[in-house]
Amino acid sequence: MKGRKLLMIPGPIEFEPDVLHAMSIATTSHVAPNFIEVFGNSLELMRTVWKSPKGQPFIVAGTGTLAMDMAAANLIEQEDNVLVISSGYFGKRFNDILERYGANTTILEAPIGEVVSLETIEKELKSKQYKALTITHVDTSTGILVDPKPIAQLAKKYNTISILDGVCSVAGEVINQDEWELDIVLTASQKAIGVPPGLALLMASEKAMKVWKNRKTPVPNYYADWSNWLPIMKAYEERRPSYFGTPAVNLIVALETSLKIICKEGIDKRVKRHQDLAKAFRAAIASLNLEILPKSTALAANTLSAVYYPKDIDGALLSAKMIEADVIIAGGLLPEIKATYFRVGHMGSVSANDLMAVLGALERALIVLGHPLEPGKGLQVFQNKLLKDN
Ligand SMILES: *Cc1c(COP(=O)(O)O)cnc(C)c1O
Repeated sequence: MKGRKLLMIPGPIEFEPDVLHAMSIATTSHVAPNFIEVFGNSLELMRTVWKSPKGQPFIVAGTGTLAMDMAAANLIEQEDNVLVISSGYFGKRFNDILERYGANTTILEAPIGEVVSLETIEKELKSKQYKALTITHVDTSTGILVDPKPIAQLAKKYNTISILDGVCSVAGEVINQDEWELDIVLTASQKAIGVPPGLALLMASEKAMKVWKNRKTPVPNYYADWSNWLPIMKAYEERRPSYFGTPAVNLIVALETSLKIICKEGIDKRVKRHQDLAKAFRAAIASLNLEILPKSTALAANTLSAVYYPKDIDGALLSAKMIEADVIIAGGLLPEIKATYFRVGHMGSVSANDLMAVLGALERALIVLGHPLEPGKGLQVFQNKLLKDN
């Protein structure tokens, strides 16, 4: 038997062999002409993936949390009002980060499995002048998908900067940064972008850059300060050598490879693949009498699914059975209900084959643990849904 395991958690994900191969090149100098070209290309390809020809991209070594930290550090000053729209664990994390920089935050928390209504958001924006608002596009703790477009429109109406945490959505869900006038869209390498962990990726609008330039106080975080990074990004894009902090050379080579794969597939087609697979997977899950955490499928992400364990089954045992079948899934993350659900990532290079392996292992695990179902039921629904929709 092969020792090969299928990593189906919501990041890190299964990476394309070409991306992993690119990681393994002999590390070059960060100012070698070939690497300058790779870095420059990566910045340009980000604009295509984000649909932000006018944006200013940043590629910095770190994780998605650094990208969040960078947005807060550069745009927020002491006593600024910031509205945090939360649908889970990562909304609260943004609130913590913003408070660290002295923001007066107001957090609107959706009930578990739901989103904050536009009426609630508008009422809050009307009540006082907010400098910025944050949206979690897909909250990875709940599998909830928020539509950022109408919220970005509200932000514009009330002269507020909009910041999208797209860590679990960029390259997997629909994003039109320039058209929707989102000021910041940020992510990390290890999710739908499809590169091993270690890169924070962020795109800032012209307006966001203006707000940063007009700050009254210096950015209180040396590493995150755009004053240090903007000249570097400009230099690489103009194919000039430059240095602030040593770039993660091999990761950036892998990033260029992955962004090229994404653009070759085409971003719209890629998002559609995520939607089709997610829809079929949710139908299969429902046919196994399992319930997803989002209150309706319209609120369910296309990059991962959060699913309640059946009441009669011990969750830890189910995960262990799945691992025995070489399929790795993730447990719950939202502290209040952590032990009651599991998560399956389906983003990046994910294929129907991967999800059939998950469903097969899941059916067997459920049956062995005493959850009644007919083997092949979920697989059949999955197959039928894919055949019908394609
Ligand atoms: C994973 C994730 C983060 C945090 O990213 P790290 O790379 O783990 O720091 C933030 N927000 C969302 C929505 C995420 O899915």
